[in-house]
Amino acid sequence: MPNVAVDGKLREECGVLGLYGRGLDVARLGYFGLFALQHRGQESAGLAVTDGKEIKAHKGLGLVADVFTEEDIASLGSLGAHTAVGHVRYSTAGGGGLANSQPLVANHRRGHIALAHNGNLVNGEQLREELESQGAIFHTTSDTEVILSMLARYRQYGNENALVQALAHVQGAYSLVLGTEAQLIGVRDPRGFRPLCLGRTGCGGYILASESAAIDAIGGRFIRDILPGELVIIDKSGVRSRRFADSPVSACIFEYIYFARNDSTIDGLNVYRARQELGKQLALEHPAQADIVISVPDSGTPAALGYAAAANLPFAEGLVKNRYVGRTFIEPGQELRELKVKLKLTANIEVIAGKRVVMVDDSIVRGTTMQILVRMLRQAGASQVHVRVSCPPYVSPCYFGIDTPSTAELVAAQCDVKEMCALIGADSLGFLSLDGTLAALSPAQTSACVSCFTGVYPMSIDKVKRETRLVRPADDWSDVRG
Ligand code: AMP
Repeated sequence: MPNVAVDGKLREECGVLGLYGRGLDVARLGYFGLFALQHRGQESAGLAVTDGKEIKAHKGLGLVADVFTEEDIASLGSLGAHTAVGHVRYSTAGGGGLANSQPLVANHRRGHIALAHNGNLVNGEQLREELESQGAIFHTTSDTEVILSMLARYRQYGNENALVQALAHVQGAYSLVLGTEAQLIGVRDPRGFRPLCLGRTGCGGYILASESAAIDAIGGRFIRDILPGELVIIDKSGVRSRRFADSPVSACIFEYIYFARNDSTIDGLNVYRARQELGKQLALEHPAQADIVISVPDSGTPAALGYAAAANLPFAEGLVKNRYVGRTFIEPGQELRELKVKLKLTANIEVIAGKRVVMVDDSIVRGTTMQILVRMLRQAGASQVHVRVSCPPYVSPCYFGIDTPSTAELVAAQCDVKEMCALIGADSLGFLSLDGTLAALSPAQTSACVSCFTGVYPMSIDKVKRETRLVRPADDWSDVRG
């Protein structure tokens, strides 16, 4: 089953990257940078490079390591390009179409452009219909092509102004990286849903990336986050910035809770520190009489460490993760899901047997993982299992770039905490409150988008989109991170 909603649209959950520098091997550095963003998308990867005259791109389905061979990188590198644009996209069992993989590359009589997008537009459907009715032809089903088509419409005003004009039509979440003949451009939507940051590389070059961890990975130096509603233009005269919109900010809270890498810093807040604070807060709100604290690795580990420190309990590696199980092409179904979790995580009997265990995870979405893990701990001899979750119950789907199941599949939308505790078979279950979550992230994030926990969205959602998401068939998405 490709990762396609009933309207045939692919859902996006991505990482973007851009490099600019004369004398810099932008192809190879871009390739390395994509590895650091792999957790943001495992379905496809792509890189486009330009020397100003020609644009070359290589894209494919799968992980970065599968998509690029040494020859591909050498071939991209042979152009002597000064600009690269890279992208990784969300993974699912079975994969999606190559046509939708990014960066999208367009040739226009006024020049060429490569575009990479992270996020989801909330009025993408509507804009597509408008553009189609005016004669536009689309090759993909992605929102990103809508932006590209809008841009082409205003191209006579020059890249920068065309972009500002195009973005005036677009609503929703978008962190964009664009490469043109002479410029690398970065854009963050007015609400700053998805992250994007700027760094310096060797040879006087620049890097734009979804997460600061990608800047560190290529040996660059973080400069700053791109601001919500800001456009930065990098060219031979350096970096220029332009604010194209001003609106209340609603950066995604789930980047801190689960999605981003532990070693990234987003909008001034380090993700590892944020997760530790969430764990500490969780221990204050939901203490437990226990012997040890364990985590669901890797994303649950910093919160578990924070919990253990605040509760004055020892942290132990009660679950062991097999790092060599990546994508597993197992079709949905309870029995096979269970097998899939067991392939990835096993209980360490030596640590667990005879103990009262607090198990900390970053989130419960469908509830399947937790149900399996609680059973696993009991089989390993745990005398009690207390589950603690470092965010509030996840009750509403995301329309701004994090892929989540439909409301019908979100366990917290169907059950209260007591029922969920019974369902997963734990001795107790505690979720961090919304106030506690915000307190842990403050003062860096005071106005984050928390719609996944409240069902209140910061902007109105395309009616078509909302209905589509609610009736989306079940698929298997649980291995994006872990
Ligand atoms: P579930 O079995 O659906 O409750 O899965 C919960 C697990 O999936 C948690 O361990 C999370 O770390 C992870 N998770 C949370 N959100 C997502 C997401 N959007 N995509 C993939 N995995 C996720």
